[in-house]
Amino acid sequence: MADKKNNRRNNRNNNDDDFNPKFKKRKKVCPLCKDKNLVLDYKNPDQLKKFINERGKILPRRATGACAKHQRDITLEVKRCRQIAMLPYTQD
Ligand SMILES: [Zn+2]
Repeated sequence: MADKKNNRRNNRNNNDDDFNPKFKKRKKVCPLCKDKNLVLDYKNPDQLKKFINERGKILPRRATGACAKHQRDITLEVKRCRQIAMLPYTQD
């Protein structure tokens, strides 16, 4: 099981490198590490909207570019924001 998962991950990385010359590998910098003054706040939905898609889903790390620590923070704040009905759980 673990092997299978690792293989898939490795294959996907290989695909990105070898078979997709269209997308050059660019180092993504975590937006929250980059801007130290940016503090996530569940009372500020406009700020959190960057991290959800149009259906209201939280974007994955590969899309947000956030580091593991900050992705956890993003997820937590988005979920809090949903609970006070300032962000949607889902749309349509
Ligand atoms: Zn970060």
